[in-house]
Order: sequence, then structure tokens, then C-alpha cells
Amino acid sequence: KPRAIIVGAGIGGLAAAIRLSVKGYQVTVFESGAAPGGKLAELQGAGFRFDAGPSLFTMPLYVDELFTLAGKDPRAYFRYQKLEEICRYFYEDGLRLTAWSDTEKLISEFSTKTAATPEEVSRFLEKSKEIYDITHRVFLERSLHKVSSYLHTDTFRSMARFGAIDAFRSQNEANESFFSDRRLVQLFNRYATYNGSNPYQAPATLNVIPHFENHFGAYLPEGGMYSIVRALERLAGELGTTFYYNEPVNEILIVNKKAVGVVTAGGTHAAAVVVSNLDVWFTYRKLLRGIPAPEKLLAQQRSSSALIFYWGINRRFETTGLHNIFFSADYRAEFDSIWKAQQVSADPTIYLNITSKMLPEDAPAGCENWFVMINVPAANGQDWQAIVRTARASMISKLSRLLGTELEPHIVYERVLDPLTIESRTGSFQGSLYGNSSNSRFSAFLRHPNFSRKIRNLYFCGGSVHPGGGIPLALLSAKIAADCVQPH
Ligand code: FAD
Repeated sequence: KPRAIIVGAGIGGLAAAIRLSVKGYQVTVFESGAAPGGKLAELQGAGFRFDAGPSLFTMPLYVDELFTLAGKDPRAYFRYQKLEEICRYFYEDGLRLTAWSDTEKLISEFSTKTAATPEEVSRFLEKSKEIYDITHRVFLERSLHKVSSYLHTDTFRSMARFGAIDAFRSQNEANESFFSDRRLVQLFNRYATYNGSNPYQAPATLNVIPHFENHFGAYLPEGGMYSIVRALERLAGELGTTFYYNEPVNEILIVNKKAVGVVTAGGTHAAAVVVSNLDVWFTYRKLLRGIPAPEKLLAQQRSSSALIFYWGINRRFETTGLHNIFFSADYRAEFDSIWKAQQVSADPTIYLNITSKMLPEDAPAGCENWFVMINVPAANGQDWQAIVRTARASMISKLSRLLGTELEPHIVYERVLDPLTIESRTGSFQGSLYGNSSNSRFSAFLRHPNFSRKIRNLYFCGGSVHPGGGIPLALLSAKIAADCVQPH
């Protein structure tokens, strides 16, 4: 069997390992960390379990597909349930909204509790679907960098409807035209943060994102998000993949413009195919010696990062659900802080995820496991120790106010993750969560291809390359990369 080496066991690397095994390769994965998953990590302490990175699971069919591809039943490896209630939104003016999975219920909730009419909400959802229908095959499921991708009839059909993807105004401008109530503008602007972008700058094409959640649904795996990683690692192992943990790749070996293997502390390892799941920025800066880097692409603006507190809370709250958003009073000012001042807003929107609401084993009896996150700029010289201190105080004060309880005395366990730690733990340049930002109208074309134009047998997968970040897209990146691999 020809040998394939994968650099990194993030979700993209695991999917690539499975796909290449199915294609007949003997796969070896080298991972610098002690466990698989990369950003999709898990944290335990004092009887609490936390999903340390992603908490919202959409498009589970992309995970299931890996099992069916290997001739296995996905349900024998991991299970998940569809959420009836996707998110609870809390506003400073006292408004509370629940985003229901059922479309009729969602429309009714938004139109009875805000100034929006049912037509406004359904018109928005239809637009979101239209953008999905036009873009998904062309922008998400194929390489944008191969001529063959443009020869499909559905590509022509999509191109003919290109004007409808709303790329020529910002997401905020579009949402202000859809909704008379600014609180719904804020709610739908938030979807720009799903790929670390700024709704006041990013094209309204990002209004495709709500369709993933509202149409295909939001899910919670049994055992939490990390069970996705466990299931994929198990499947890859059964297909013959060998994993080496705590063994970073130091160099990708290139001979005569061909990738021929990698170097780790354990020695030199030959391969017919090398796939890097590491952030493309570090792949060029650290692993590809003597190869000219695509400087323009690497100089693109990075997506935002996150500051997260993992809190063990010694009581329960009735008003919160699995996913909760506590909005800032002035959303534009918040994004100006992140993107213009490159600082953390004094009143950040807080995302609170509590898996113990649905997975009681994640917290001791009577307690809750709080994943409390705010969006912050990618790290470029800020004083993160000072930011963590200030943000912690403002987050506790906002949550205490909106939940009507002094929170500090109830925090019995605490861990923190900031952009610098995200960079050092997962090799994500500046700690950004989703590679480059999607703030530019052309961002889809400015991501690195899933193959190298200059080096044969070298491929790329993961959230920093085409088609982008987030679990579903990182999984698609592995599919496209594997589809690009030439037979050996
Ligand atoms: P990564 O996770 O980036 O993994 C890369 C791997 O490479 C790591 O394991 C790293 O240790 C390894 N590595 C680095 N250097 C080397 C080396 N030299 N040799 C070998 N291995 C190396 N997505 C969602 O879909 N929903 C969410 O709710 C969501 N929330 C998020 C919240 C947070 C806090 C974070 C951090 C991310 C979130 N994301 C979310 C994004 C999602 O986690 C990522 O897009 C996705 O996990 C990226 O996967 P990847 O394949 O790019 O690999």
C-alpha cells in the first residue's frame, strides 16, 4: 500500500486519515499534542467535564458520511440528538427570545415578542435558503482551484444567479433591510461570528449560515462534542491508521518539487502523500523549508479569536438552556472594539454553553458546567493577562445582572483559554479560530487550495484552507483534499 502521512489530528486530519485509508493508503498521523481533536478538545476537573472548543454541532451528516464511506454504521460509533431549542437570547432591555428548531415556532416567537412581522422573518429564512442553494456546491463542496470544478452544469447555474448571493452589501446592511426591529438585526448579525468575521464588514452572503442551523438543525452528541473525536479516532484506527501523539512534525521533506515524507524527533518518515492539517500559516513558516510561501494569502486578515472561562458553578439556573447569548447593548461598538481598536469591548456579548443541562453526568449533582466565551481579536501584541482580568470582571457583572444572582460566590472551579493559549496548543496563528476572516467579499477565493500548486503530493485540510473553518467546513476540506489526491 502507498503510505500517506497526516500532520495533525484535528477534525480535518482525522477525516483525511479515514478518507485516505478508504482510498487504499496506509495512513500515519503525527500529532504534536497528547490527544486527538486539536481545537475540538475536552477538559475535566473537580467533577466537571467541559467541551473546551466547539460546542455547536451542525451538519452531522458530514461525520456520518465518514462511517458509511468505510462501510460502517455511524450509530454503532456515536449518537446525537437534535435540539428542539437551539439558543436562548438575553437582551439588556429585558427581552428574551428562544430560537426554536421548528420554523413555525421560531417565526411565531420572533414576531410575537419583537416588532417584526411573520413575513419579515420568513422572507429572511427564504433568502438564507436561496444563498445556500446557490453556493453550497460551488463554494463548499468542491475545490475552487481546479478547472474541472467550473465545468459542472450546476456551477453554471449558480454563476447565473450570482447576484442573488448578496455579496455587494454588508451583512448588517442586509439585515437592517430585512428587519425593522434592531434586536433581530443583532440576532442575525451574530452569525458572522460563526466564522470569526465582522457583520458590519463581511458580505451579506454570510446570511447563508442561519440556514445550516434552522434548516438542517443543531445537535448535541451523547457524551458531548469530544465523542465525535473519539469516534473518528476509533474508526481511523480500525481502518489501519497509526497515530503518534506528542510527536510534532518538524519538517515536510521536499525533493524535486515533490513531498516525499516528514521529519519528526523520531526520525525521517517516507510517504507518497503528505497532508497538512496544521494551520496553513505555520505549515509554510515552520514546516516547508526553502519553499516560497504564498505571501499575499498568508497576509490576509485573520478571523477573530476567543476568550473562554470554564466555570464549575455550584448551583442551577432555571432561566438558562444549553446555548445562551447575552447580547451587548451596542453591537456596532463591540465589533469596532474587536476589529478597529483590536481590543476587547467593555460590554462584550457573552456566549454561555451548559452541557450539563442535557448531559447531567457533566457536572456534580446540583451543579452546572459553564463554558463562558466572548469574541476577541486575534492576538497581535495585546496584554492578555490584563484583558483576562478586566473581561472576567465585566462578564461576571453582566451575567449577575441579567440572571439576577451574584455569580462570583458560585464559581467553584475555573480554567481560562485565551488567544495565546489557543495558538500554542493548536498551532493556530494568532489564536484565530477559523483561519482567515470572511470580512472580504473575495474571501472564498483567498483561502489556500487543498493542494499545492508548486509541490506535488502535498495537500492541505482544516479550517485555515478552503472551504473554511468550523467543524462542517473542516470536514469538507478533508473530502476535497482526498478527492484531489492523485492515485499512486
Ligand atoms: P485543528 O483543530 O486546528 O487541529 C490542528 C492539529 O494540528 C492540532 O491537534 C495541533 O496540535 C496539531 N499540530 C500543530 N502543529 C503540529 C505539528 N508541527 N505536527 C503535528 N501536529 C501539529 N466550530 C464549530 O463548528 N462549532 C463551534 O461551536 C465552534 N466553536 C469553537 C469554539 C472555540 C473556543 C474554538 C477554539 C473553535 C471553535 N470552532 C467551532 C471551530 C472549530 O473548532 C475548528 O474550525 C475546527 O475544529 C478546526 O479543525 P482543524 O481540522 O482545522 O484542526
